[in-house]
Amino acid sequence: MINILDFSLEDLKIWMKENGEKDFRAKQVFDWVYKKTFDFDNMNNIPKDTITKLKNNFYFSLPKVVKMLKSKNEDTYKFLFEYADNNVIETVVMKYNHGNSICVSTQVGCKMGCKFCASTLGGVIRDLTSGEILGQILKAEETTGERISNIVMMGSGEPLENYDNVLKFIHIVNSSYGLNIGQRHITLSTCGIVPKIIDLANEELQITLAISLHAPSDDIRKNMMPVAYKYNIEELLKACKYYIQKTNRRITFEYALVSGVNDSDNHAEELSRKLKGMLCHVNLIPVNEVKESGFERSTNENIKRFSNILIKNGIEATVRREMGSDINAACGQLRRSYTNKI
Ligand code: SAH
Repeated sequence: MINILDFSLEDLKIWMKENGEKDFRAKQVFDWVYKKTFDFDNMNNIPKDTITKLKNNFYFSLPKVVKMLKSKNEDTYKFLFEYADNNVIETVVMKYNHGNSICVSTQVGCKMGCKFCASTLGGVIRDLTSGEILGQILKAEETTGERISNIVMMGSGEPLENYDNVLKFIHIVNSSYGLNIGQRHITLSTCGIVPKIIDLANEELQITLAISLHAPSDDIRKNMMPVAYKYNIEELLKACKYYIQKTNRRITFEYALVSGVNDSDNHAEELSRKLKGMLCHVNLIPVNEVKESGFERSTNENIKRFSNILIKNGIEATVRREMGSDINAACGQLRRSYTNKI
């Protein structure tokens, strides 16, 4: 039996053909599923015997809500979702004036080992399937009654370590028979797996690529992110330039400011030199303090100074608005406190 959310439209067309059905049935079924009809018997334009075949081969599975927290001002929801094998992951929904964003997880845990991040403390348990990632959106929409219009892959996991499932997820989300969310409304965030960035560039998608850079030099980056031992900043920026050349899309660099580690004026100048002339934008994030990491947040004054230096040097920069910190919305903290208890 297969979770129908794990099938792309192409997969379902092939299945229909192999099972003696007309290929347009795939579109009809897809249309029902993504309008959230999760019961084959209610698909009233599909013949009875086709429904029987579908029921014998497919099931619907959405994650279960273990916990839902709502921030005081009600602009952020945080979910702890559980899959059939009892693994739990986090998903966050953020309400903005321009629409609602969802931050999805792509793996259970993460193996990248970034020193400031709570998601990676227990390593990676497994990849999520495309249907499991999609399930986070469908369940969040069902539970909140809100329609999601933007997706960021910034929950737990490294999306480029789960490349095929993530790509299938993007295609289903983007398909007009799926969730019909434009590629420009989808952001993939990576710690910087260089060969996979090149593969992604070759897909020629219009999604936004976000790179977790976090440091202006390899030495500092190595102290924060083990991946920096494998790929240096020069190679990483070269891959980013290739992505820009192939897609003409502006890259986002994420930079979590840690007091005394990467937040001095010199660091801002060094970062400006490295990014000069690139089609990019720097997203400055006050590091979210995770008690195991020992990294402390920069002061607001430092963050402002850092941002001003980038801007003075012609690098676009904004400071990320903090949302949901009252509900532990950041970076694997909720799953960690939950799994530590059980
Ligand atoms: N593995 C991917 C996506 C998941 S992490 C990546 O590394 O990009 C999403 C973003 O949250 C990354 O930019 C990551 O560096 C950042 N992040 C993780 N822990 C954080 C923390 N404690 N404070 C601020 N940002 C954090």
